[in-house]
Amino acid sequence: MDLDGFMSDVTRRNPGEPEFHQAVREFVEKVLPVVTADERYVRARILERMVEPDRVIMFRVVWEDDDGAIQVNRGYRVQFNNAIGPYKGGLRFDPSVNLSILKFLGFEQTFKNSLTTLPMGGGKGGADFDPKGRSDDEVMRFCQSFMTGLARYIGKDVDIPAGDIGVGSREVGYLFGQYKRIQNEWSGALTGKGPAYGGSPLRTEATGYGCVYFAREILARADEVLEGKTCTISGSGNVAQYTAEKLIEMGARVVTLSDRHGFVHDPGGMTLEKVRWVEELKTVRHGGLEEYAREWGAAFHARETPWSVPCDLAFPCATQNELDVDDARTLIANGCRLVSEGANMPVTYEASKVFEAARVSHAPGKAANAGGVAISGLEMAQNAMRMSWTREEVDERLRAIMRQIHERCVEHGYGSDGWVDYVRGANVAGFLKVADAMLAFGVV
Ligand code: NDP
Repeated sequence: MDLDGFMSDVTRRNPGEPEFHQAVREFVEKVLPVVTADERYVRARILERMVEPDRVIMFRVVWEDDDGAIQVNRGYRVQFNNAIGPYKGGLRFDPSVNLSILKFLGFEQTFKNSLTTLPMGGGKGGADFDPKGRSDDEVMRFCQSFMTGLARYIGKDVDIPAGDIGVGSREVGYLFGQYKRIQNEWSGALTGKGPAYGGSPLRTEATGYGCVYFAREILARADEVLEGKTCTISGSGNVAQYTAEKLIEMGARVVTLSDRHGFVHDPGGMTLEKVRWVEELKTVRHGGLEEYAREWGAAFHARETPWSVPCDLAFPCATQNELDVDDARTLIANGCRLVSEGANMPVTYEASKVFEAARVSHAPGKAANAGGVAISGLEMAQNAMRMSWTREEVDERLRAIMRQIHERCVEHGYGSDGWVDYVRGANVAGFLKVADAMLAFGVV
């Protein structure tokens, strides 16, 4: 079995799905030596089975807008792999949502969840619905119709969705309310819930905080600290906001945030007050970052990404393929030595190769942004026990989980030249647990 032969089969069987092909290629390239060295994996055709989702659900979502016009969207749930636990993964509401993107996200989620050490399988879902510019009532009606289509396929021991791009606490509230109404039961079938109805402390902050804890572990191996480091961040949503907050708390200097329209450059460094202002801008007023520039006197660069700004550490926290080869070369030329992915697959395949060649520490989303789903796993545990832990307890567990993920990445990614290939480490460590579970089940 060779990579190109394997990928030509994947491409033929999944036409028109470039993001899915990219995620599979990155994974298979790293795990292939482990697979071919073990006859059990080869005989069981473990890789061929892993790239085939357990099932894909697609459904029509019809709803009425504020003008009484009928709107039609498409809903999805990709239940990718439940070898080590019930399907778990977010819902994305964005006009760009399609099967390729959700299959790549569900595939990645399988190995990310395996890395967390918690018993969770991988899934992802969403709809091509754009919440931007919609009233609260329209978002509620959409969420209710979406959940009416999805409810029969999920459940606390079956499949437990959460938020992602375009799905925050408001949407989770509407989705959970409709699920509870249809099933006539209160169960933790969604995570990211509000504190009043079963949500875990720190779930909102967990992905961003975890991404920073992971970067801290990388630096600690080289006897370095976050304090004093200049950091660029892309995105200004949930993950970006809490990445910025934790970096600032730890004494780093955050100089950028971005959105779909461009990025702000604040060379003096952002403060917690400014980040909270961005949170209000994005989650309450749904405004653009050019307002930040006006409010705080920083520069706004329209239609550009932040990777031209010199930094020590880069945190891509917006979306897939937002950092390309040219960006990678610019970052390296400007002295960047560490990239920690808050977003899923934000770095293109070719850019990843540039980081590898330059021996930049590159923490893939599977590892670096696993804190969010890890705390979702803890939310499920708290719901099942009918109790809740304190913020301090959850934070302590989050730090411990990120430390363990880091250790597993080093174990499987450490090279003879002393450089850690975090992409290899994360993929191999994530693969082994899922593969061994699948072997134990026989031919299913
Ligand atoms: P949000 O919707 O809260 O924020 C997304 C941010 O990214 C917004 O600032 C948005 O800009 C920007 N963005 C989205 N699409 C694009 C695009 N095509 N080009 C430029 N900017 C874009 O989502 P999250 O913060 O939750 O998610 C961000 C990333 O993190 C995603 O890749 C997601 O899969 C990943 N992730 C999220 C987790 C979570 O717990 N939420 C867990 C693990 C990974 P604008 O403000 O203009 O809309």
